Amino acid sequence: FFITFEGPEGSGKSTQVRLLAGYLESRGRETLVTREPGGTPLAEQLRTLVKNFDGPEKMHASTELLLMEAARAQHVREKIRPALAAGKVVLCDRFSDSTTAYQGGARGIELPAIEFLNSFAVAECVPDLTILLDLPPEAGFARTSVRAETRGEHDRFEEEELEFHLRVREAFLAIARREPERVRTVGANRAPEIIHEEIRTIVDQLV
Ligand code: C5P
Repeated sequence: FFITFEGPEGSGKSTQVRLLAGYLESRGRETLVTREPGGTPLAEQLRTLVKNFDGPEKMHASTELLLMEAARAQHVREKIRPALAAGKVVLCDRFSDSTTAYQGGARGIELPAIEFLNSFAVAECVPDLTILLDLPPEAGFARTSVRAETRGEHDRFEEEELEFHLRVREAFLAIARREPERVRTVGANRAPEIIHEEIRTIVDQLV
């Protein structure tokens, strides 16, 4: 099974991935945890490039899109597909819906281009289930800036305005409306344990 987690920064995706992995392992399911952009050494280098690029020129949205898809193509072929073939449950923190939301909804690249490149990058590796951790941008913002302060991390994406994050959220919710079977929306403005319980219930029906 291939399960992806989507949502804004500060929605607690990585915590929920970790909790679900622990649960699945305790039930005897071999589980692989991974993330995007990244997940393999090459794709992690692309992640660093796309997040931290700082030069005299600006990174164009289409360049950002192609770098995200390049990282994804490598990740799928090198790591996700082999793990699924070996019978593992794969949990991925962000996947192609993030591209639809960020490079599409927020940066404004047209949907047909995004959809073509997404399907080219993932080949047949489509998630069986996607958990969308939904959170108003104001709430996610607060959590992320605290996190960035404590970790000393800063990147290109932190400079975006509220308007950008509102478009991200709207794009995620639009995907969930288009594909209600695959994408389950879970309210992220609650205690991690409560959210985990809801996710467990959803996953139990599938796995
Ligand atoms: O929170 P996470 O570590 O997943 O953040 C990755 C960063 O990359 C976020 O700032 C997110 O805005 C950005 N991103 C993006 N487009 C993607 C995936 C991630 O802009 N397709």
